[in-house]
Amino acid sequence: MTHIRPPALIDPFGRPIHYLRVSVTDRCDLRCVYCMSEDMTFLPKADLLSLEELDRLCSAFVEQGVRKLRITGGEPLVRRNVLSLFRNLGRHVKSGALAELTLTTNGTHLAKFAEDLKQAGVRRVNISLDSLDPARFKTITRWGDHAKVMDGIRAAKDAGLKVKINTVAMRGVNEDEVESLVAWCGAEGFDLVLIETMPMGDIDGDRTAQYLPLSLVRAQLEQRFELTPIPDTTGGPARYTRVAETGGRVGFITPMTHNFCESCNRVRLTCTGTLYMCLGQEDAADLRTPMRASEGDELLRAAIREAIARKPKGHDFVIDRRHNRPAVNRHMSVTGG
Ligand code: SAM
Ligand code: SF4
Repeated sequence: MTHIRPPALIDPFGRPIHYLRVSVTDRCDLRCVYCMSEDMTFLPKADLLSLEELDRLCSAFVEQGVRKLRITGGEPLVRRNVLSLFRNLGRHVKSGALAELTLTTNGTHLAKFAEDLKQAGVRRVNISLDSLDPARFKTITRWGDHAKVMDGIRAAKDAGLKVKINTVAMRGVNEDEVESLVAWCGAEGFDLVLIETMPMGDIDGDRTAQYLPLSLVRAQLEQRFELTPIPDTTGGPARYTRVAETGGRVGFITPMTHNFCESCNRVRLTCTGTLYMCLGQEDAADLRTPMRASEGDELLRAAIREAIARKPKGHDFVIDRRHNRPAVNRHMSVTGG
């Protein structure tokens, strides 16, 4: 079906906003050490937007030119009935309004959902995996079952979903595994994206100890692999390279050592309807109130435009000994990674 593309939302720095990430729950079945403390307090369920409201909000963004929608969390696949949200949003893929409907998941429930997600219109999935070693995986995620995640990854591949593996590189934790991850992803046909830890939300541990600049990881990888930079096609924060030995791609997300804000095309919505215009800043817009104020979407659309007009130029993350506290107080699981 041909779709007439609406004018894009443009922020004050001339960046068109094509990409919305939506956290559908702040809850999770894992407790990754860099993301959460072990005893997290989650939002009361009554505060969450209903799946119908999330659909309405997402659809309002799609009507205003958003072309890519990523469902995340928390763990999106622990939200009850989340498949119905994917099925409903899939109509925008079918109409051509959305170029992509995708999700980021820890993979623990993917074996159950992969095939249905594909049917709903999902073509690609990002799966977080910080270690190929079951014992180490358990230490990093506190509660994770490595075998379940590997089953999920396999199911995604079997369903024909394109898989991208996200790995947070941590000093003294998994830095010795990055080469094996590159080789494994290459062999499986998965993209690999390496991420630096970002100072978001209180965790139990010490972030300075975990923080590992990817410049070091890349230098280490280049001893074994030939990495050739490839032009960016996604407009996202990852800088990609082609690995000569495997033919695969490895991306680097370096919020701490390289500022990727110039090309930022995205905003983030929480499961309570708060829109964050920047991952690393506190300013936010409440979209729940204008949405609930009327049946029509006029107020909601105006609130979205007003929020985009306030999108800041960029973030200002610092992790060092003097700044060993979160740059922003909310956890990644609230805004959606
Ligand atoms: N639960 C899903 C998952 O783990 O894929 C989706 C949400 S999770 C918050 C999204 C991504 O953010 C994951 O790849 C995770 O590794 C990453 N992440 C979480 N906290 C982070 C932090 N403080 N610094 C860097 N990456 C982080
Ligand atoms: Fe859960 Fe994802 Fe955070 Fe790990 S990174 S605790 S899986 S939300």
